[in-house]
Order: sequence, then C-alpha cells, then structure tokens
Amino acid sequence: MSEHNCLFCQILDGHIPANIAYEDERVMAFHDIAPQAPIHILIIPKQHIATINDFTEEHQDLLGYMILTAQKLAQELGVAEDGYRLNFNCNRLAGQTVFHTHLHLLAGRPFSWPPG
Ligand code: 5GP
Ligand code: ZN
Repeated sequence: MSEHNCLFCQILDGHIPANIAYEDERVMAFHDIAPQAPIHILIIPKQHIATINDFTEEHQDLLGYMILTAQKLAQELGVAEDGYRLNFNCNRLAGQTVFHTHLHLLAGRPFSWPPG
C-alpha cells in the first residue's frame, strides 16, 4: 500500500530518516522537520490515504486511533493538561502540502483562535 512517490510512505519504509516518537502496526508519529511549536509531531496512518476526504466508514477505527495516539503522546510529553492543538489540513485552501494524511500535534506555546 506504500506509494513510491509519497514522502511519508518513504519515511514509513525507512528510506527517508525521521525522528520517530511512536510506532506500532497501524500508525507512526514523528517530529515535524519544520516545527511550528516547541512540540510539533505528525501522526500518520501506515496505510497511504491521501487526504481526510479519502477516509470512509471502514477507516473509522483508524481515524479514532490516530487521535488517541496524539492524546497519549500529549500525556507522555506532559502537555495534556496545559493544552495542545490537533489539526488536519485538507487540500489547497487549508495548506496541505504532503498528500498522505497526517494529524498535527502542536504544543508548548499558546495558540490563537481563529487560526490564520
Ligand atoms: P501539511 O502542510 O501538509 O499539513 O503539513 C506537512 C508537514 O510536513 C509540514 O509541517 C512540514 O514541515 C512537514 N514535513 C515536510 N517534509 C518533511 C520531512 O521530510 N520530514 C518531516 N519530519 N516533516 C516534513
Ligand atoms: Zn503515502
């Protein structure tokens, strides 16, 4: 299911190095190469799914699992109580640049609302 031209599939396959925070059979979490906060981790499914638009009912468990993985990382990193932001960017207007769905976990500073 890995896509040859996909950057994050290449990280999953070990062809491109990443600073991995967590990995199991369903997901991988690694530190963003250009962090926008003191903690900036990307949680990705091991299955190549390009955007959040491509998730279907069969992916419900996987989607929930990605969010729970982010929650556990936030707890382990000690930021759960202070707060953190979870974010999916979907397609052009949201600024998605890597078309392998990823959940951003951002923490360690205040975040404004509405986002820019
Ligand atoms: P998007 O804008 O698609 O939601 O987020 C893509 C994220 O992937 C960006 O925050 C960007 O910094 C990160 N990124 C892009 N290339 C790499 C890479 O090679 N390694 C890592 N760890 N992160 C990357
Ligand atoms: Zn991929």
